Amino acid sequence: MVELKNVDVHYKDGGKHGVDALHDVNIRINDGEFVFIVGNSGAGKSTMLKLLTREILPTNGRVFVNGYNLSKMKNKKVPYFRRSLGMIFQDFRLIPDMTVYDNVAFVLRVTDRSNKYIRQRVPYVLNLVKLADKAKFKPTQLSGGEQQRVAIARAFACDPKLIIADEPTGNIDPALSYEIVELLKDINRCGTTVLMVTHEHDLVQYFGGRIINLSNGSVVFDNYIGGDEEYMEGEDEGK
Ligand code: ADP
Repeated sequence: MVELKNVDVHYKDGGKHGVDALHDVNIRINDGEFVFIVGNSGAGKSTMLKLLTREILPTNGRVFVNGYNLSKMKNKKVPYFRRSLGMIFQDFRLIPDMTVYDNVAFVLRVTDRSNKYIRQRVPYVLNLVKLADKAKFKPTQLSGGEQQRVAIARAFACDPKLIIADEPTGNIDPALSYEIVELLKDINRCGTTVLMVTHEHDLVQYFGGRIINLSNGSVVFDNYIGGDEEYMEGEDEGK
């Protein structure tokens, strides 16, 4: 569950009087939802993600994520809280000199999972993103789309309650962007909540679902739209 209650974020060091990056934001996202967060540059999307990962605290209001009240959380608890999150970034952030297998296994090792669990879990998640045959490759030997699929496998490996994907299709071929969202949808069907920040209107239009639109630090739209996906699937048949 993600909840922002009357949240303001004011940066003191922007301009003469600072910047109101978020103003009176109220959002509730239940477990198991898939939500697109959209908005122009400067709308407050990154600020919102920084609140959700507790990189910053709100100036006013309260933020709850996965049962934690982030405003009240002690610093020493932050690493445990972050284990309940999976992060996916525009620039993949894979470790270049590790194989695909080790990139995924690494996050499990640092969170003290047993070797037995790791030996089962890594092939399972690589299979889910259809990269089982590339386990021994290094990230540089993969396409952008494949690298992002490794990052998705890594984010999902620890079985997080919430996955936050920050412009995950920003650096990949537009035709492959749909695949990336499909994978995030598959993960969502396994019960993980997914928040995806994007500025790609075509994708949002195609998949539909719950859309939160930020503009100038405020939520200007938070509702469900029908996607084109269903009837497109029908049209694709037989091609
Ligand atoms: P988005 O991710 O939607 O592009 P941001 O959350 O990055 O928007 O920015 C929202 C507003 O806050 C913008 O006006 C931006 O210039 C400002 N801002 C973001 N980070 C800082 C910061 N660290 N210090 C001062 N102003 C900031």
